[in-house]
Amino acid sequence: MTEPLPGSWHWLDPAGLQQLIDALRRRGHRVVGPQVADGAIVLRELASVAELPTGWLDEQDGGSYRLRHDPAAGTFDHVVGPHSLKNFLFPARETIASFTRTDGAWTQTHAPAPDPPLAVLGVRGCDLAALAIQDRVFLGSGYVDEAYKARRERLFLVAVNCRRAAATCFCHSMGCGPAAGPSFDLALTEIGNRFACEVGSDRGAAVLADAIAAGALMTACSEAEIDAARGVPRDLAARMHARQGVVDRPTPRSLDTHGIRDLLMRNLEHPRWDEVASRCLSCTNCTLVCPTCFCSSVQEVADLSGDTVDRERQWASCFSLDHARMHGQSVRSSTASRYRQWLTHKFASWIDQFDTSGCTGCGRCITWCPVGIDVTEEIAAIRATDGAASADAGRETP
Ligand code: SF4
Ligand code: SF4
Repeated sequence: MTEPLPGSWHWLDPAGLQQLIDALRRRGHRVVGPQVADGAIVLRELASVAELPTGWLDEQDGGSYRLRHDPAAGTFDHVVGPHSLKNFLFPARETIASFTRTDGAWTQTHAPAPDPPLAVLGVRGCDLAALAIQDRVFLGSGYVDEAYKARRERLFLVAVNCRRAAATCFCHSMGCGPAAGPSFDLALTEIGNRFACEVGSDRGAAVLADAIAAGALMTACSEAEIDAARGVPRDLAARMHARQGVVDRPTPRSLDTHGIRDLLMRNLEHPRWDEVASRCLSCTNCTLVCPTCFCSSVQEVADLSGDTVDRERQWASCFSLDHARMHGQSVRSSTASRYRQWLTHKFASWIDQFDTSGCTGCGRCITWCPVGIDVTEEIAAIRATDGAASADAGRETP
């Protein structure tokens, strides 16, 4: 048995994975992992490896998500579902302050006590990249979101290297997968019925050491076994780049990102915005499932007596008419202007704002769009007709 250290690799069988979960729970972590629920693979509190979706595959395409049971599938052969780390670090609704009136005087009470530390099992490369993007937004842009910071500092990440992609995945185009990175505490690569576990941090080494001290049998991986494990996501990436042998779909997604910022910004008057608007329902699904979208609104919510008021932060979407309301009217009243705002922010002006793309190629916005609108298809259509912008100078500003 080799002592776990950052950079070392160890074999875990399902019993070892259970002991890892147990070690995290003993340390006070709320452990969350993928589970089958409501017809999808979602992130939920996890106590046992038996709750993981072993034998389940997700078949995803534009506007389509189906689970299929396959006895040959492993524990992590599904890809990303509707949930991401965003749901836990930046919840859809949270109370950020409370106020109480007593004898006519208002006092402010602070937001609820911090959540217990969170450990998330099964995080993919695209979602680690999304976490790094949200870190820039919430921690690195001159304003620190204290609630996010408190959760982020105690977050424990058990990543997974993908060995299968869905038809909607294009992480390889965005440089965000399928290998797990840029940072994790532990990373698993499923091989046969066991997991090669790479230690990525001192905290990861300490948790593995706890599991071993509690009786877990974890043998060290040999150099050849480490090479084989590293080859799993590398082989998948090669197949994704070659657009073959990955999925049933004849044309797996990919995105040409060359000069994408300038491409979009010089095509603000392209007729494609009206074409996509004729299909878009402005339902906001794409922004809600996107692991990097960060817009929110704040509302005061009073009880019936009017003596207690909670200030709540809720996710907001640039597809809502109210999101761009200024001086009594919306400055983006058409669906075309709202879709253009979303796409050009995500793939162009985000680069100016945060020095990174706002997209990691997770494919969620394609899968969960009820009419199957596909960002890779929309951008390809604009690229194919670059320069065909209409001369309509009266369009609203994005
Ligand atoms: S824009 Fe779509 S593919 Fe890109 S990160 Fe957001 S949900 Fe994923
Ligand atoms: S692109 Fe699709 S998911 Fe997004 S708002 Fe339009 S219809 Fe809804």
